[in-house]
Amino acid sequence: MTSQIIPVAPFDCIVFGGTGDLAERKLIPALYQRQRAGQLSEPTRIIGVSRSSMSDEEYRAFARAAIQEHVKPEEIDDKEVETFLARLFYVPVDVKTDNGWDALKTLIEKKPARIRAFYLAVSPALFGDIASHLKTHGLITPDSRIIVEKPIGRDLKSAMDLNDTIGKVFREDQIFRIDHYLGKETVQNLMALRFANVLYEPLWNSAHIDHVQITVAETVGLEGRADYYDKAGALRDMVQNHILQLVCLVAMEPPSSLEANAVHDEKVKVLRSLQPITPANVEEYTVRGQYRAGASSGGPVKGYLDELEGHTSNTETFVAIKAEIENWRWAGVPFYLRTGKRLAARVSEIVVTFKPIPHSIFDQGAGRILPNQLVIRLQPDEGVKQWLMIKDPGPGGMRLRHVPLDMSFAESFHERNPDAYERLIMDVVRGNQTLFMRRDEVEAAWRWIDPILEGWEDNSQPTQGYTAGTWGPSGAIALIERDGRTWHDSL
Ligand code: NAP
Repeated sequence: MTSQIIPVAPFDCIVFGGTGDLAERKLIPALYQRQRAGQLSEPTRIIGVSRSSMSDEEYRAFARAAIQEHVKPEEIDDKEVETFLARLFYVPVDVKTDNGWDALKTLIEKKPARIRAFYLAVSPALFGDIASHLKTHGLITPDSRIIVEKPIGRDLKSAMDLNDTIGKVFREDQIFRIDHYLGKETVQNLMALRFANVLYEPLWNSAHIDHVQITVAETVGLEGRADYYDKAGALRDMVQNHILQLVCLVAMEPPSSLEANAVHDEKVKVLRSLQPITPANVEEYTVRGQYRAGASSGGPVKGYLDELEGHTSNTETFVAIKAEIENWRWAGVPFYLRTGKRLAARVSEIVVTFKPIPHSIFDQGAGRILPNQLVIRLQPDEGVKQWLMIKDPGPGGMRLRHVPLDMSFAESFHERNPDAYERLIMDVVRGNQTLFMRRDEVEAAWRWIDPILEGWEDNSQPTQGYTAGTWGPSGAIALIERDGRTWHDSL
């Protein structure tokens, strides 16, 4: 089965932070892949912008190296690479100053008007400077869009300020707030499973679902991002955005269509229905941890504080939360959320556990009847497994077995699985905001997160230690086991 590629309209993608890590690892490889797929129309250009002094040719050499490093060798097609590199240009601009903007404007305006996508792959501290310079230099046309990355604020107030700053010069329908989790095939497949099948929706409620688990586990530590991470922590870095977005997609009501506002309206309702976790109950509903020295990816690794080189810090590198959604569909169905660094495996998944059967007709020799589970794996090995009980084949009588109905994409579709950024950048060009976050979603998420942060600040207890390479502190296990449940074995 092959998917049909529809070329998008010509565009200029202006990447502020064009020499940074995000551009190198994600954006350039993603745009190259779209070139290879035949999705970029002829006059499309990619313009890198940062302070470094660099010629177009030097920027092309940077991009060539990025492709060699971050694209699989069998996906590197020399002819396509050359065609792609010819689309690349570079302009040095220090966005904090007036220098360089005229050159950028001249380059952009050299070609007939087309869609402009301003990608802000820079620190959010620079968003205001960029937005105001784009405005004063007359670079914003009705067909322009701006793309911003997380973190969008560090609390509700700063998120609102950032949204105001951008909102002063761009309309909301021009603003694309990326959460790359939403561009993943399996995340979109969750929508297809729920709303393109009659099977799940009648069961998708508190009458049939026992609980939901969402795990976003990393094996890596700080990877040179200590400055950012120690000020953020796992709650801000992962829960406020990726995990709450996943909660929304699992829990939302069917939108009236896939139109962006219809989807955003339903997601916002979920966020507003989350039971507040306040300083009074934060200890009951949350666990935070920090990794100590241990072993990860086959070797010994330092603890978090050692990675910080001696600083003391109470920042959480792990968080587990029992969240509850106070509405008719979900009352009484806990959503257990956990994320952390230096955990036992790199895995992101959603596990929906259905209620047990009401009565068994099988005798004890048939074995234990486990509840049905729908496991949606976002990474690695994107795919969906529906766990069912079946009869063990053979003449040995009625013995039951728990087996997965495997909808693994690699096997079913025999195609490469495009990176989320490929899909999302093309959606920006098409002007489709469905897979992006609307302003009120970001703010509603912070409104739920802020009291947890306050609760932790008021709380004199330090974060619980956990050994690197494990599944987090013992408190996280207790959080779910005291409800008579266990974390899904994600290995
Ligand atoms: P980075 O590697 O530090 O890159 C920052 C970029 O900004 C560089 O190209 C830098 O180039 C440029 N820059 C800095 N100051 C500038 C200025 N005054 N004027 C113009 N350009 C300037 O950061 P990153 O990891 O790519 O992250 C960029 C943003 O994306 C951050 O907000 C980050 O949180 C977010 N993000 C990153 C990732 C990721 O995987 N890396 C994932 C999600 C979100 P010069 O030094 O040459 O100016």
